[in-house]
Amino acid sequence: MAKNGNGFSIAPHGGDLIDRVLRGEVRKAVWEKAQELPKVSLTPMGLSDLELIATGAFSPLKGFMLREDYERVVREMRLASGLLWSIPVTLPVDGSFADSLREGQEVALCEGDRVLAVMTVDEKYPYDKQLEAQEIYRTTEEAHPGVARLYGQGDMLLGGDVWLVDWPSATESEFPELRHTPAQTRRMFARRGWRRVVGFQTRNPIHRAHEYIQKTALEIVDGLFLHPLVGETKPDDIPPEVRIESYQAILRDYYPSERVMLGVFPAAMRYAGPREAIFHAICRKNYGCTHFIVGRDHAGVGNYYGTYEAQEIFDEFDPEEIGITPLFFDYAFYCRKCGAVVSAKTCPHGKEDWVYLSGTEVRAMLERGESLPEEFTRPEVSKVLIDGLKRWKEQHGSEDAGEE
Ligand SMILES: [Zn+2]
Repeated sequence: MAKNGNGFSIAPHGGDLIDRVLRGEVRKAVWEKAQELPKVSLTPMGLSDLELIATGAFSPLKGFMLREDYERVVREMRLASGLLWSIPVTLPVDGSFADSLREGQEVALCEGDRVLAVMTVDEKYPYDKQLEAQEIYRTTEEAHPGVARLYGQGDMLLGGDVWLVDWPSATESEFPELRHTPAQTRRMFARRGWRRVVGFQTRNPIHRAHEYIQKTALEIVDGLFLHPLVGETKPDDIPPEVRIESYQAILRDYYPSERVMLGVFPAAMRYAGPREAIFHAICRKNYGCTHFIVGRDHAGVGNYYGTYEAQEIFDEFDPEEIGITPLFFDYAFYCRKCGAVVSAKTCPHGKEDWVYLSGTEVRAMLERGESLPEEFTRPEVSKVLIDGLKRWKEQHGSEDAGEE
């Protein structure tokens, strides 16, 4: 624990909170020069990664990975320095574009044509997509959304440090009031006097089961940081704008406001299961959390990972290396005999007494405009989800929007 302003806070991963945002006159000069550089147009995930690197959420990364970092992360879950790191953060480009660049030159990283950052291309290198798929996603099947994205991206990677000169459009248009940087959340936690903070990652609405898990964790810490991911997800996940509204509804009516903070995590989902659980935990450490909730099948998709693999992977490392304390939870549900939300760990009854709905059933009910059972979801949340999904479909046509 390091002393920091009003109190004590957990050290960022690797020791220092990275800040790669240029400001003032320097920003202006670099921005002007960058207009003339070769432009790399970032994907939605690239835009998310750039924002997270620049703000220090990916500390100690200062840019997109060099070959030695990348290869060691893929094979050993470590950066070249030996520091634990589980997910590649790379900048893929087409081979022909890579051919036009020489190592050591600068490029502009862009959203469309708009310059957001400059990067010195310290390295350009080929990589093995099959190996990355197998090691990171534990499958080479294209049916896996993370693998599909990997196979569809460019064949060469550019590595180098970045300096941000302008923000992606999402930073200012999507939940700007909730898009706190790690430096901001650290100050907010300190101001509230929170020394122990539990982070909760989600890309789904909060049902009673999640509320139970969050409040159980909150019993042993000072504050809960509800930190839903709002970067790119699968098309059939509930859209972030609907989810955020549902979080605000449940927080307003069922949580003590002085012990909970809502923020958004601009990352894209990888669906890398165990590897992503470690990654999510390390990012939340950078935001200043001391504890992190890991549920069943964290960051999973389909049947690619075992139910508890995302918890078991934490045991492969010295807890001090991870730094943030994982809190493992089993599946929770309402039990009619217990008359409460419980888990398989605490309830002696059987499935016939448990109120359980699959993701498919939840989606079907919401789409028919039916409230979910009160034992499963708070009525205020059901209402927001039903109204929100209806509105979303009116605005976006018949594209998928639901809960996996
Ligand atoms: Zn029971």
